[in-house]
Amino acid sequence: VLRMEAVRKTYGGTVVLRDIALEVPAHTVTALIGASGSGKSTLLRCANLLEDVDDGAILLDGQDITDPRTDVDEVRRRIGVVFQAYNLFPHMTVLDNITLAPRRVHKEPREQAEGRARELLERLGLADRAHEYPDRLSGGQQQRVALLRAVATRPRLLLLDEITAALDPELVGEVLAVVRDLKEEGMTMVIATHEMAFAREVADQVCFLDGGIVLERGTPAEVFGAPSRQRTQEFLRRIT
Ligand code: ATP
Ligand code: MG
Repeated sequence: VLRMEAVRKTYGGTVVLRDIALEVPAHTVTALIGASGSGKSTLLRCANLLEDVDDGAILLDGQDITDPRTDVDEVRRRIGVVFQAYNLFPHMTVLDNITLAPRRVHKEPREQAEGRARELLERLGLADRAHEYPDRLSGGQQQRVALLRAVATRPRLLLLDEITAALDPELVGEVLAVVRDLKEEGMTMVIATHEMAFAREVADQVCFLDGGIVLERGTPAEVFGAPSRQRTQEFLRRIT
C-alpha cells in the first residue's frame, strides 16, 4: 500500500529524514519506534503530504504521490490520520465529527453516513454519546471517536501518531483496543508509538528510527527480542 524510497527531508538545512526506505504491505501494521526527535512524526507527515520531501519517492498504491502533479486532496482522502491530541472539531457533536468527511468529501447521503457512524459508535459502547460535544467526553473517548472519524471514509491507510501519549494511563487501554480491532479488520496502519508492549503485540513490522534513518527493522521478535544494533539495545534498555 505504502512504499518510501530514499526519502530525504530537511528543515532549514538540518537533515531530519535521510534515505528512508519503507514498505508497508496491505493489511499489515508497521510500528515506528525511536527516541524523541528521531523523525517518526516527520515520516508520517511526509506520507500524508503535510510536508514536502526534499528527495526520494513515496508511493501510495503504486502512484508516486511526491510527483508535483499529484492531487493532494485526493491522496489525503485515501489516508486516515490521528494525532496525539485535539483531533476532534470542538464545535461539532460526535456524530457530526464522524460524518463530516463521508458527507462533504465523499458525498454520502446523511442517512447512510449517520447509520454507519451509529453502528461504529455502538460497537465501541459510545452510542449514547452521539450528540455530545467533544469537551464532554473523556480523553480516551475522544481518541476513540477520532479513530472512528478517521476510518469512516474507509481509507486505504491509517497513520497514527502517538495517539495515546496525552492520555491518563487508565484510558490508554480502551484506545489501543480499538486499534487492535482495526487490525483484526485488516486495516493497513503505520503507528508511531512509545508503547513498546503494544508495538510488540500488534505490529507485523517494527522500524527503529535513529537520527532520521531506519537503523533497524524486523519482526517484533527480532527488534525487541534480539536487536542487532547497539543503538537499538540502548534505546530499549532505557525505556523498558
Ligand atoms: P517525538 O517522539 O518527540 O514525537 P519524533 O520522532 O516524532 O519525536 P519529529 O517530530 O519527527 O520527531 O522531529 C524530528 C526532528 O525534526 C527534530 O529534531 C525536530 O526538532 C525537527 N522538526 C520537526 N518539525 C520541524 C519543523 N516544522 N521545523 C523545524 N524542525 C522540525
Ligand atoms: Mg512525534
